[in-house]
Amino acid sequence: MHLTEDHEALRATIRKWIENDVNPYVDEWEEAQIFPAHKVFKRAGDLGLLGIDKPEQFGGMGLDYTFNAVLAEELGLIKAGGVPMAIGVQTDMATPALARHGSDELRAEYLAPAITGDIVFCLGVSEVGSGSDVASIRTTAIRDGDDYIINGGKMWTTSGTQADVCCLLANTSDDPAHKNKSLIIMPMDTPGVSVARKIRKVGMHSSDTAQLYFDNVRVPRRNLIGQEGMGFIYQMQQFQAERLWGAFSTLGSLQRAIDCTIDYTRERKAFGKSILDNQWVQFKLAEYQAELDVLRAACWQGAHAVARGEDVSRLATTCKLKAGRLAREIADGCLQFWGGMGFTEEVEISRIWRDGRLTSIGAGADEVMLQILTKMMGIYR
Ligand SMILES: Cc1cc2nc3c(=O)[nH]c(=O)nc-3n(C[C@H](O)[C@H](O)[C@H](O)COP(=O)(O)OP(=O)(O)OC[C@H]3O[C@@H](n4cnc5c(N)ncnc54)[C@H](O)[C@@H]3O)c2cc1C
Repeated sequence: MHLTEDHEALRATIRKWIENDVNPYVDEWEEAQIFPAHKVFKRAGDLGLLGIDKPEQFGGMGLDYTFNAVLAEELGLIKAGGVPMAIGVQTDMATPALARHGSDELRAEYLAPAITGDIVFCLGVSEVGSGSDVASIRTTAIRDGDDYIINGGKMWTTSGTQADVCCLLANTSDDPAHKNKSLIIMPMDTPGVSVARKIRKVGMHSSDTAQLYFDNVRVPRRNLIGQEGMGFIYQMQQFQAERLWGAFSTLGSLQRAIDCTIDYTRERKAFGKSILDNQWVQFKLAEYQAELDVLRAACWQGAHAVARGEDVSRLATTCKLKAGRLAREIADGCLQFWGGMGFTEEVEISRIWRDGRLTSIGAGADEVMLQILTKMMGIYR
């Protein structure tokens, strides 16, 4: 991977921000089961972190994807997975389609303030009855004059209790499932939008996750992103960015898992020596590091390919799959070396273990990644 002084300067800025403005507060946010997204995003926006690869015309830095990859990797240093996940939703999950296909008017109204951190975005794709099978969503947006009338609901919406705007996937016609969907910008304060509940989760506590209801929500048709009927395609493109992002942010947290386990096992004694002085422990940690380094190399290969404008569907899918596998293997294996302490809420490793479990489920489960790969290999039946 070829990184410049500019990449390293960005990395230093992100690290300083995390150290001063984020990590000192994450325990409080985990306890509260929500973090103050507006406050955190505003500071991140002031530093330019929410629009690294977004067009300069709308306040972004207009840099190539490798700079965004530095952000995703560094965010793994935040000591609670919920915060990087919500930032990823803002930059790489809910806004790429708007940035690429939205009208200038829509981008000025919604992308520009997302980049400055003045508004918080959520992504409304998954529903109670459809997660893996995105094509089967039921939410509708029916034309009525110059408006759409939206009915239905969304499930698992990250930042859903505090977001200002939702990038919503809805059915806009009765055409076949891959041609009847559209992405629509839906302000969350529109009458008819309600938060049905905030979902209690096993991990990612600092991120608020909501179930949303829509009852005759009226949104202007100019809030459509790109062309009507192209929403499924746009969302699949948006998923590629999301999957590479997910893999990158896993790198940072798993590096923390290995590093903090080395520190702990070096200090902790059993049978007259450090736990780390057992060759079994050393070999396991070396193997985890090797696996992580291979994933890191694949992620950076993907980042450079995106920067060159190449299609990275296969690599992003592979990285996401491998990141999910390693998030389970490395975090669980490291936790084992902490003994009873690893099973408490008092140490870093247990949070990495439970937060990382989502990587194999969110943004497409491991099995969905495998299904995509079988199609690319020509063996899908
Ligand atoms: C904390 C959290 C945050 C999230 N944030 C968002 C968000 O902001 N916006 C959003 O739209 N969504 C969000 N999601 C939803 C997430 O993307 C879905 O949970 C995920 O896509 C899986 O869908 P599902 O939960 O409905 O599982 P299901 O579709 O019910 O699948 C259940 C399981 O079935 C298996 N499976 C599925 N398909 C296949 C197959 N073809 N072959 C073999 N096995 C299969 C897999 O093991 C899968 O885990 C979030 C989820 C969580 C938990």
